[in-house]
Amino acid sequence: MDLVHVALISYTPDPERTIAAAARVSVSPVTITELWERLSPERADSLLSQLLAAGHLSPFEHASFTFAIEGISRVTSHQLVRHRLASYTQQSQRYVSLKKLDYVTPATISARPELENKYHRVVEAAHELYSQMLEAGLPAEDARYVLPGAVETRLVMSMNARELMHACSLRLCLKAQWEIVGLFEMLKAEVLKVAPRLGAELNPKCYRLGYCDESVSCGLFPTREPPSAPDKAK
Ligand SMILES: Cc1cc2nc3c(=O)[nH]c(=O)nc-3n(C[C@H](O)[C@H](O)[C@H](O)COP(=O)(O)OP(=O)(O)OC[C@H]3O[C@@H](n4cnc5c(N)ncnc54)[C@H](O)[C@@H]3O)c2cc1C
Repeated sequence: MDLVHVALISYTPDPERTIAAAARVSVSPVTITELWERLSPERADSLLSQLLAAGHLSPFEHASFTFAIEGISRVTSHQLVRHRLASYTQQSQRYVSLKKLDYVTPATISARPELENKYHRVVEAAHELYSQMLEAGLPAEDARYVLPGAVETRLVMSMNARELMHACSLRLCLKAQWEIVGLFEMLKAEVLKVAPRLGAELNPKCYRLGYCDESVSCGLFPTREPPSAPDKAK
């Protein structure tokens, strides 16, 4: 496989109304069933805006999204699973022997043919040794030590909307690594199809801050001026 494939395989039905209804429970005297039946999509939309403006984010945990992710490198899956408030099930390199090696080639390497050739040779040599070790009867859990981080993987990830907003705030920042930025752009595109109001909130952190908190801005927002020193003369 040479293309990343991302699909939203299941999600909380009516995710935006679910979040809004959950938020209303804390302040409404009516039953939850009544509240749910009365809640129009327009009211849900405005409630979501209020929750976001107030930073009242726990209701966003009631909507969850499950994605199938295929064709990312192990380099990127390693970064992805650092987001702890999510569930992951990844193809095992212990139980699945890689007869054919699919791997990611960064564009910077493809742009340099003399290095790209060496890159492919090294990755293929690693796979050859891996295959020899399997043929010699070594367990896949040990032979896999020779495989590079470029090797493609597949996994299922479930994440709630609050954690999705948080992870997107970090991983859609152009200071994050290109492969994981691309992955989160695809995750956002999937959410936008089923929950456009929520999907519109999946943005790099500078959108919410109104400035760039990195040392050098990508140009989307300027970096914040350093706070001026207190006037010691007073
Ligand atoms: C551009 C970039 C560069 C990075 N570089 C490195 C690097 O060089 N080395 C490295 O090791 N990592 C690196 N990381 C990973 C980073 O340190 C975090 O592990 C990762 O972004 C997960 O984010 P998180 O910890 O905010 O939140 P998540 O795991 O997504 O959790 C969400 C939030 O829940 C809360 N939370 C979760 N677990 C706990 C807990 N145990 N205790 C208290 N609060 C908790 C926190 O508020 C947290 O922000 C990098 C990340 C980015 C985006």
